Amino acid sequence: MIYRQPIRKIQESVNSMLELVFGVSLKNATDEQCYKAVALCVRDRMEKGRSEFIQLAEQTKTKHIYYLCMEFLLGRSLKNSLFNLGLEEDYRKALAGLNLNLDALYEQEPDAGLGNGGLGRLAACFLDAMASLGIPATGYSLRYEYGIFRQKLVDGWQTELPDFWLPGGKIWLRSEPEKSVEVRFNGRIDDYWNNGFHVVNHKDFTKVMAVPSDLYVPGIDGRGVSRLRLWAATSEDFDMSLFNGGDYLRAVEQKAMAETITKVLYPEDNHPEGKSLRLSQQYFLVSAAVQDIIRHHLFRNRTLDNLPDCIAIHLNDTHPVLAIPEMMRVMMDECGYGWDSAWEIVQNVFAYTNHTVMSEALECWGINLFRSRLPRIYQIVEEINRRFCAGMHNKGVDGYQVGRMAPWNDGFVKMANLAVASCHSVNGVSKLHSEILKDRVFHDFYTEMPEKFTNVTNGIAHRRWLCQANPGLAALLTELTGDGFVRDAAELEKLMKYKSDPAVLEKMAAVKRENKIRLAKYVKRENGADLDPDSIFDVQVKRLHEYKRQHLNALQILTDYLRLCENPEMEFTPRTYLFGAKAAPGYYFAKQIIRFIVDLGKTIDADERVNKKMKVVYLEDYRVTLAELLMPAADLSEQISLAGTEASGTGNMKFMINGAVTLGTLDGANVEIRDAVGEENMILFGMDAQEAEERKKAGYQPRAFAEKNPELQAALNAVEKGFCGVDFRDISNSLLSSDPYMVLADFDSYDKARHKSERLYRDADQWRSMCLVNTAKAGIFSADRAIREYAENIWHVKPVPEGKRHV
Ligand SMILES: *Cc1c(COP(=O)(O)O)cnc(C)c1O
Repeated sequence: MIYRQPIRKIQESVNSMLELVFGVSLKNATDEQCYKAVALCVRDRMEKGRSEFIQLAEQTKTKHIYYLCMEFLLGRSLKNSLFNLGLEEDYRKALAGLNLNLDALYEQEPDAGLGNGGLGRLAACFLDAMASLGIPATGYSLRYEYGIFRQKLVDGWQTELPDFWLPGGKIWLRSEPEKSVEVRFNGRIDDYWNNGFHVVNHKDFTKVMAVPSDLYVPGIDGRGVSRLRLWAATSEDFDMSLFNGGDYLRAVEQKAMAETITKVLYPEDNHPEGKSLRLSQQYFLVSAAVQDIIRHHLFRNRTLDNLPDCIAIHLNDTHPVLAIPEMMRVMMDECGYGWDSAWEIVQNVFAYTNHTVMSEALECWGINLFRSRLPRIYQIVEEINRRFCAGMHNKGVDGYQVGRMAPWNDGFVKMANLAVASCHSVNGVSKLHSEILKDRVFHDFYTEMPEKFTNVTNGIAHRRWLCQANPGLAALLTELTGDGFVRDAAELEKLMKYKSDPAVLEKMAAVKRENKIRLAKYVKRENGADLDPDSIFDVQVKRLHEYKRQHLNALQILTDYLRLCENPEMEFTPRTYLFGAKAAPGYYFAKQIIRFIVDLGKTIDADERVNKKMKVVYLEDYRVTLAELLMPAADLSEQISLAGTEASGTGNMKFMINGAVTLGTLDGANVEIRDAVGEENMILFGMDAQEAEERKKAGYQPRAFAEKNPELQAALNAVEKGFCGVDFRDISNSLLSSDPYMVLADFDSYDKARHKSERLYRDADQWRSMCLVNTAKAGIFSADRAIREYAENIWHVKPVPEGKRHV
C-alpha cells in the first residue's frame, strides 16, 4: 500500500514548502502559491517513489521502455497524481484544516498542452498505464516554452494566442542540468580509413545543448512511476572558444539556433510542416534521447551487446524516426561498432506505431535540407537505404516495388519507409487501420516481411477519463459493482446485470443530468450561453479537420433548421449541439468551417421560431481540462469521419466510458466499439471503408447527391448565401466540386441517423440502457489493455513483481 502520512504531517509539509520556496506564511499565501506548495509535496513523493521503483526494476532485470514522441498532451497533473496515489482524500482533509479548498487549488494549474490532439494524449495515457502495470518507462519529448496555442474566437474567426505555460507548469519539472548532452547540426563530414578503422570527423558543426527536466506520472496505487524527460535547447554552454578563435558568426548563430529549437510546439495535427526548424526539433529530441539511453546503459553494462535484452525504444509516429540513424551513428562513431553488429542491435530495439493513412500526412524531407542540416545522419540514411534496396533486389523483389519501399527516393528521405525498413515491429492503432496498413499504405512491405505487422488498438487512461472526470458515475459504479474496475477496467462489465434495472438506469440518468448541469454552468460563465440540461447534448469535440467532417454535422443542423422554419410543428426533441476544436493556424478551410458553425449558431439563436429547440455552441479552446468536463455530460458522441480516414480515435472511447451513445461511421476504433456493444447500442451510418474506396475509384460525383436531395440542395444554397453578412461559398463550392471526404455521399444516411437518435432518446428506458451498455463494455478501451498488448507482443517485457508499492 501507499505510505499514508498523518494529516498533521501533510499540513506541516505544505507549510514548510510555502516558507521554503516562497518565503510566505500560510495566511499570506496566494492560491497560486498554495497550489505550488502542494504540487511540490506531491512531486517530492513521486521522485522518491520513482527511485525505489527503478531500483527494484534493476534488481529484477526488468526491461525499460523508452517512449519517444514529439507530443505529450498531459493536461493537469495535481488531481491525477493525488488520485492515483490514493491520497486525494487525505490531502483534501489536510488542506481543509488549513482553510484551503483542494478543488480551488486544482483550478490554479494550467494545462500542460505539449501536444495537438489524440496522438499526444495517447502518449500521456500510456505513461499512466505503464506506471499502473509496473512497467518501468521513460517518455522523451521536448520542453516547449509555448504549448498548443490558446484559441480565441473573434466574430467566429479563430485567432491564436501564445500558451506560455511554464510559470504555472514548471513546478512539476525537476531540472537535471548535469545530465545535459550536446547535439550537433550543420557542418561537414571528414571521413577516411586509418589502419582498417573508419574515422569520422564532424567539422564546423553548430552545437546546441540539450538540458533535461523530468516530470513524473504515478500509476494507480503508486505501483510504478513513469518519468517524462523533456529536453530544452539552450545556449547556456556558450562556446567562448569560437569567439576567441575569431568565429564570431558561428558563435552567434549557435546561440540563436539554440534559443529557437524548443521555443514552440508546431500546431499542425496530421499534417507535417516541412520546415527546417521542425527537422531540427526532431533531431534534437532523438539525439538527446539516444545519447541519454546509451550513456545510462553503458554506465551499468560496459557493452551495448545486451541492449535489446534491457531496453525497448518505441517510436510514436514517424516524427522520432531519426532515432534509428542516430543510434547507428553513436554506436559506430562513438562506440566502435561495425555496421552489421550495430544494425542487428538497432533493429531489435526499435518498434514503430503508425498513426495515419492519409498520404499528405506521411512525412518526407527534401534531401538538400536534410543533408545540410544533418550531414552525418544523411550519410547513414543513405547507407541504410543502399543496403535495404540491395537486400530486396537480391531477394528478387521487383525494382518498382523496391523503389516504393526505399527510405531514400525521388529526392526525399521517407520517414515511414525508414521506420518500417528498420524496426522489428510495425503496428496500427485499430483493427481497421492495421488492415489498411497491410492492404494499402505498407502493402509492398507487408508482402516481403509480414511478420513485422501487428495491431494494438488505442486506449485511454480510464482512471482519468472516468474516475476523476466523472466522480458521480464512479461512485455509483462502486456502489453497484465494487471498486475493482479502478484497477481492472474489464470489471466494468459487471454493470451489465443492471441493463434492465429501472432503479439503476434512473440513478445513472441522474448522474448524467448533474454532469450536464455542471457543464452548463461552465458554458454560462465562459460563453454567456444558457444550455437546457433536458435537451440532448450532442457533442463533437476533436481537432478541426476536413476528414473529421465537422461540416457534415453543421450541414445537417442547417438542414433541420430550415425544416423547422418551414414547419415549426415538426416533431423535434430539443437539442444542444456542442462543438470544440482547434484548427491549425494556417488551415484556412478549417477556420472557415469554424466561422460557419459559429454564425449558424447565431442565426439560430436569433430566430424565435427555433431557438427553444435548437442551440449550437462553439466552445473556445478545446483542451484536456475542457474534455474532462465535456465527456461526462454528453448524450451523443459524434464520430463521423469518412470511413478509412480516422486511424483509431480516442475521443470516441472517452465518450463511451462515460455512457454516451456513439453516432458514427464504421471508422477506426468505432468498428471495435460496435463489436463490443452491438449495433443496437450505437447509431451507425454511412459508407464503410471499402464502399468509400470503391466509390472513389468509380469516380465520385458529389453534385449528383445534391441534385437528388432537394433539402440538401437547399442547405447548400444557404451555405453559399451565408448568414450574418458572411458567405460560405468556399465550403459549398468545395463540397459540390470535389468533396474529398464525401460529405454529400454520406449526408442522407447521417440525416436519418440523427433522427433515429432522437427517437431512441425519447424512449428513456431504452436510451438509458444503451448508455449503460456503453460504459459496461468500455473496459477493453483502457490504456492498461493496450499497454499489456505492447508489453507482451512488441516489447517483450514483464512487469516488476507486484506486491511492493513504491510511493
Ligand atoms: C482525446 C482528445 C483528443 C482526440 O480526440 P479524437 O476525437 O480521437 O480526435 C483531442 N484533443 C483532446 C484535448 C483530447 O483529450
